[in-house]
Amino acid sequence: MLGALVCIACLFGAPAGAAQPKLVLAIVIDQFRYDYLLRFRADYHFGFARLLEKGAVFTDAHYLHAATVTAVGHSTFLTGATPSGSGIVGNEWYDRESGKSVTSVSDPATLLIGGAAGQTGSSPRRLLVSTVGDELKIQHPDSKVIGVSIKDRSAILPAGHQADGAYWYDDHAGAWVTSSYYREALPEWALKLNQEQPGARYATSKWLPFDAKDDSAKPFCSMVKDSGVRFCGSIEATPWGNEMIEEFAERALAGENLGHHAATDLLAVSFSSNDYVGHAVGPDDPAVRDISIRTDRLLGKLFAEVDKRVGAGNTLVILTADHGVAPVPEVNQARKMPGGRLKGAELTAKINDAITMRFGPGKWLLAGSSSIYLNLDLIRAQKLDAADVERAAAQAALETPHIARAYTRSQLLNGQVQQDAISRAFSLGFFGPRSGDVFVLQEPYYLFESGGTSHGTPYDYDNHVPVIFQGPGIKPGKYSTRVAVNDIAPTLAEILNVEQPSGSIGRILSEILN
Ligand SMILES: [Zn+2]
Repeated sequence: MLGALVCIACLFGAPAGAAQPKLVLAIVIDQFRYDYLLRFRADYHFGFARLLEKGAVFTDAHYLHAATVTAVGHSTFLTGATPSGSGIVGNEWYDRESGKSVTSVSDPATLLIGGAAGQTGSSPRRLLVSTVGDELKIQHPDSKVIGVSIKDRSAILPAGHQADGAYWYDDHAGAWVTSSYYREALPEWALKLNQEQPGARYATSKWLPFDAKDDSAKPFCSMVKDSGVRFCGSIEATPWGNEMIEEFAERALAGENLGHHAATDLLAVSFSSNDYVGHAVGPDDPAVRDISIRTDRLLGKLFAEVDKRVGAGNTLVILTADHGVAPVPEVNQARKMPGGRLKGAELTAKINDAITMRFGPGKWLLAGSSSIYLNLDLIRAQKLDAADVERAAAQAALETPHIARAYTRSQLLNGQVQQDAISRAFSLGFFGPRSGDVFVLQEPYYLFESGGTSHGTPYDYDNHVPVIFQGPGIKPGKYSTRVAVNDIAPTLAEILNVEQPSGSIGRILSEILN
């Protein structure tokens, strides 16, 4: 009897001295397709190299939802939920209640703190489920949870509702900011960094290749307009954006004494600049290789600082990306591959014409091009069946060249769709109160953007991303089983001995746990 009790204790109790991390460093690289780990491997010697050599590396990790965009990826990361549960269906969506477009984190009930006075802030209010950080705080209120990025949604969504702070960069104010949702003033350490005017340092900089010997090398872009070199645009669209994020993360580490509380702390850091650069030039441009190599170095710097502060071997690092990216269509065409550009406005006009032809004139479409919101008031006033109008819209979309699929709200709700992975991705991405009424999917490699490239489809180039765990309690190695990014959150909850996040549909990646 006593033996049985002891055995139960050894199965379920954390044995004395079990390796609980003091800190979880949860990293997202914005627009970092899985193959960037392979293509530039020979040039990785720092952060990525450490993760690839010492971590559990998943080679076949995918998102399950169709709308592979920043807010959805970041909300999936530490909730394990799909949009059908989390309510985060896009970066922005049409809010039927207010008749306006809202973002995943916009919150008129809050104020921006640290930038220009009186501006509206952001919050995790629209995220309907808990994050691992939330579950950690419920069990260990003393744990600190902090989110950092250049984009508000990328700082806020991984951190969750109970975060001690989420911080992002306001380019107009040239300052790090937060929201009154978290606190009424920036902490001292963040104020101090703002006084150093971190963004101003780069006002006249040129982005040279990482291995340039001197500044005679051809720059990728310049922060000076009309200098004869491509203008970088904002600081976000340069490697210095990532450097600023890393610097802020280091200050947060020290300022919040992370890794030195009774239970585990969590620092979520999202590097945004890879995304801005990638959109402008595409995955095959040398600038993407350059910023990837620079990201490797920057991660090395961050890991060194973390180890110095928290002690080597005490931090669990988790790394993923919020989405991948499509090749630039013209680059793909030159390789004899499919692809091209479509016009969203033409598609919308065509859909509107088709509905008008069938049901009469009116403002039938309220918003959207690939996710379309129909005018339900008009449909009701004309005593029409919404499903009929949806079908007419979908039919018009399907008659457009290079449109592969069109799903209607009614079809998704009733399961009247082709039974395959793409339909499932649209279904898992659908949340009734917020999603549109018709969803249009282009053929692979076709984009609605007029230049550069983008992401947002359920195709592999958009949904295949790195998933790496490295640190105490993790069995290193290469794992080629197909997994979902949704598996990260339940695995982390298991490691931290806390409840699973409320919307998680992932599985515990038990194969990597010691
Ligand atoms: Zn993104």
